[in-house]
Amino acid sequence: MNYFNSRPETSIPISGSNDLFLVHRIFCVGRNYKKHIDEMGYEENDIPFVFFMKPPEAIVTDGQKIAIPDFTNNFQHEAELVIAIGKEGKKIPEENALEHIFGYSVGIDLTCRDIQNEAKKKGRPWTLAKSIPYSAPVSDITPADESGHLNEGNIRLSVNGEIRQNSNLKHMIRSVPKIISNLSQFYTLFPGDIIFTGTPEGVGKLESGDIVFAEIDRLQPLTITIA
Ligand code: MN
Repeated sequence: MNYFNSRPETSIPISGSNDLFLVHRIFCVGRNYKKHIDEMGYEENDIPFVFFMKPPEAIVTDGQKIAIPDFTNNFQHEAELVIAIGKEGKKIPEENALEHIFGYSVGIDLTCRDIQNEAKKKGRPWTLAKSIPYSAPVSDITPADESGHLNEGNIRLSVNGEIRQNSNLKHMIRSVPKIISNLSQFYTLFPGDIIFTGTPEGVGKLESGDIVFAEIDRLQPLTITIA
């Protein structure tokens, strides 16, 4: 028996090697920095575990150009730490979570904010705001063997040389092990899964021609151009 179709393969370069990391699924955590929750105007006393997904075709590698979708008037950047999963697991206890990490990248969760705001008001899904092609640029993956695990370190994003986001991973509400443990209550995590871990404050609108640079201490940086 043969398959009727093949499927497109999306991959991310691994820093310091010629190998590629084949992307399986993309999970994205929301509301993970207090000051970002404040700037978005969320009024909740508890901090819910909010997450959504993007399709593998959302991946864009370092140095590429990305067009603003023609259905948004407010295309925004969200700089985030990205986890690359290297080992299968379900219901992973926090204390074992780090064993499941292959490495880390810097990513930008590109978001159609106008569509997201409308969706929130009307109780509709965020799919068109978040889960669109080319909405998940990521830097080359640094293996955790080289970077160590990241529970603190500067995270920054600049547009045309002007710093817009400037925070520290230590301000994450849910730590890397907590996120892996939480997600794996619902999903078996597989090698190839990647997880965006939420953005700090300072998100903002991108315009055609912008050059966007994102960096996290000890990781490969990311540059994209907005076409
Ligand atoms: Mn985000």
